[in-house]
Amino acid sequence: MDAASRQAAQPPAVATGVTPFDVTRVRAEFPILATSVHGKPLVYLDNAATTQKPRAVIDATSRYYETFNANVHRGVHTLSQRATDEFEAAREAARRFLNAADTREIVFTRGTTEGINLVAQSYAREFLQAGDEILIGTAEHHANIVPWQMLARQRGTILKVVPIDERGDLDMAAFERLLSSRTKLVAIGHVSNALGTVNPVARIVALAHAAGAKVLIDGAQSVAHAAVDVRALDCDFFAFSGHKLFGPTGIGVLYAKAALLEAMPPWQGGGDMIKTVSFEHTEFNDIPYKFEAGTPDIAGAIGLKAAFDWLAGLDFAGAIAHEHVLLERTTAALHAFPGLRAIGTARDKAAVLSFVIDGLHPQDLGVLLDSQGVAIRTGHHCAMPVMQHYGLSGTARASFAFYNTFEDVDRFVAALGRARDILM
Ligand code: PMP
Repeated sequence: MDAASRQAAQPPAVATGVTPFDVTRVRAEFPILATSVHGKPLVYLDNAATTQKPRAVIDATSRYYETFNANVHRGVHTLSQRATDEFEAAREAARRFLNAADTREIVFTRGTTEGINLVAQSYAREFLQAGDEILIGTAEHHANIVPWQMLARQRGTILKVVPIDERGDLDMAAFERLLSSRTKLVAIGHVSNALGTVNPVARIVALAHAAGAKVLIDGAQSVAHAAVDVRALDCDFFAFSGHKLFGPTGIGVLYAKAALLEAMPPWQGGGDMIKTVSFEHTEFNDIPYKFEAGTPDIAGAIGLKAAFDWLAGLDFAGAIAHEHVLLERTTAALHAFPGLRAIGTARDKAAVLSFVIDGLHPQDLGVLLDSQGVAIRTGHHCAMPVMQHYGLSGTARASFAFYNTFEDVDRFVAALGRARDILM
């Protein structure tokens, strides 16, 4: 990570090998972490797919349904007003979380995927012309590839892909070569879900802006691992999903600079996104409501606010340092594992470990680990092009959150050893 990114993303404190972070106390707040799978205490290492939820998030969601369930924005009755207040308080919490300037810049979505599609189908479809170029990286999630391919069919835009090197680092020299006055948008993952690579997003934003391009950051994998400041990053769009940040599924946030949202046309029509409707003329609502047609995920937004609040009370720097130690410990153990090849060894990595083991199919590994209570993910991780880059059909992937422990690491490595003994 370059100096500017480091400042903007406030990455882990230096890992010392000793972590003062009270992981036992934190774990106690996640009810699911006390469950067993196949009679074994759960070791949950699939956090890149989705994170577990603390009691505070579960309770906030239930409290909404139990005590003030009502639709938002349209009711004068007490429950509707309370639901609206809490929904809008969630928007303010999201603004604070991202350090956005204004709640008008916070659009609630279903998640990262919907946020990126919104930018493609509203901003890019309106403002990009045939021949205009969009730059993405090789390691993008399908959610940051397919919307641009769909747009290319609609508008004749051109998708250009920045290569990665063998370690999984973005080739920044190639990025600079590909960037030109034809580049209108750079859409880049902050952290790769398949490799763990942390991209130098602050530098990417600066270079892209100098070339006159806008920047969208796919923050699905970064928000739970580093504090994000959209104003320091100066990105134009930033999308993430609540469920990867200890919040509910079905809710996400698209941050966009207010001037862009003002200029962008709505992408879905319906209730709430209008001021007046007649058969002759419809006047659209103000931002961000112009982009929130229909009843939103109210419980999801309230649950997401609970996640923001819960995180605000956490020693986040300690949590990130702890996660970093978990990454180092697991990396060292896997390095010593016979026949294991790590896929993705970037200089700056989040706590994601993709690997293959000679002679073992990742799927078989995943099933055998599950039988020992260890949840990892196997397959292409919705990033088929990066698998193609490494000549693989898939990998096994362990991904950590700050509630994981050294014991989780040790049980994971022991389970891998047993799986190898059974399969070979
Ligand atoms: N981008 C990245 C980097 C991801 O890891 C994911 C989820 N795996 C997504 C986008 C899509 O997120 P969602 O499915 O929550 O929309």
